[in-house]
Amino acid sequence: MKTAILSIGDELLTGAVVDTNAAAISAALFGSGFRVERRLTVRDDEAEITAALQGLAERHDIVVATGGLGPTSDDVTARAAAKATDRRLILNDEALAHLRSVVPDERLRGLNEKQALLPHKCRVIPNPVGTACGFWLTHEGTLFLFLPGVPREMDRMLADTVVPLLRERFPGEERLRRRRFTLLGIEEAEVNELLKDIPQPRRGVTLAYRARFPFVEVTVRGEGEAAELFNRAQTETLKKLSDHVVAMDDETPEENVARLLRESGFTLSLAESCTGGLIAKLITDIPGSSAYFREGAVTYANEAKTRALGVPAPLIDEKGAVSSEVAMAMARGIRAASGSDLAVAVTGVAGPGGTPEKPAGTVFIALADRNGCRSKRYLFPGDRDQIRTATAYTALDWLRRRLTP
Ligand code: ATP
Ligand code: MG
Repeated sequence: MKTAILSIGDELLTGAVVDTNAAAISAALFGSGFRVERRLTVRDDEAEITAALQGLAERHDIVVATGGLGPTSDDVTARAAAKATDRRLILNDEALAHLRSVVPDERLRGLNEKQALLPHKCRVIPNPVGTACGFWLTHEGTLFLFLPGVPREMDRMLADTVVPLLRERFPGEERLRRRRFTLLGIEEAEVNELLKDIPQPRRGVTLAYRARFPFVEVTVRGEGEAAELFNRAQTETLKKLSDHVVAMDDETPEENVARLLRESGFTLSLAESCTGGLIAKLITDIPGSSAYFREGAVTYANEAKTRALGVPAPLIDEKGAVSSEVAMAMARGIRAASGSDLAVAVTGVAGPGGTPEKPAGTVFIALADRNGCRSKRYLFPGDRDQIRTATAYTALDWLRRRLTP
């Protein structure tokens, strides 16, 4: 399916407004297997818009336009759409009813009614958060979809109506297949080495790599008839990398862990030193986390580790606050205090600085459950922020591994 995006608006060309809509449309369509092949931006000018629509229709099956559906005289998209598809503009009953329901003021209604003038026999795309409805129609084999310019409205209509509509009208086989793996604890070059035998980029299957700290993403794409090859490539990729896969497709690593926690029925508590609550933030970013997350303690001072978590003061004196023993005592301590099934603790040197024995990036992660407690030493590269981020996601990964059957 060849797809194009038409962005409409003077401000986009002067640079006053950055065209975030085109990026949002590309991402939403790509996520559903539609490859956007061209983007075009034109002024709020009826003749320009008409010519652009006709030009794009010659080479594309789907054209998604954004902008210029408002009530002001500079909004001329509906007129251009009618002209490009040889239709009249008529007052659309559905759009008018919507307008009347959201614009209570009698005087404003008259001015806004222009927004209900749409091409004959088009279908309305409901706008649950604004006045201007969108619309879609087909003309000479091309599907045209028109969305307002305001990003908040555009996003909703894209997700609620446009993506489902495209998925319904274009069966899966014609779409691009995509599988994304989010990896942790492995370098891009290592991934590349591991996957060197997977056939690419011949016959419609491609592998793409992207480093997105602290992750590496690998995306397997397949097009058209290459279904068989795509399935083989993605299965092999998963097999080779499975130990590092912290999430798949659009799920985030924290969403993945949240799902596993929910499914397991286990409760969780956290004791954090060097991450300062970042793990608790990642856990509680996910709605519904109160079902499994009991509590988190941020204990920086040695005295706090002793008081809140019951870490013996002599242990800290002997081994140091950044040590395997203290990490385990923290995990056991918060597990006992909270009564949770699982407890994770982290203690480390986020930097800058550190000592020769424990340089910046030295981190101990511990996990306690009813079977006991384990810990491991890490040396994370990077600056303070990167060390904390890597620590937090690695701690989440301990949970993923613990909860994966
Ligand atoms: P309105 O009813 O607000 O006039 P409209 O559909 O006519 O809606 P435009 O007039 O084209 O939309 O744009 C309204 C506002 O939305 C612009 O001023 C701009 O801030 C924002 N906008 C428009 N197009 C885009 C775009 N492609 N990307 C990001 N923002 C945009
Ligand atoms: Mg406008």
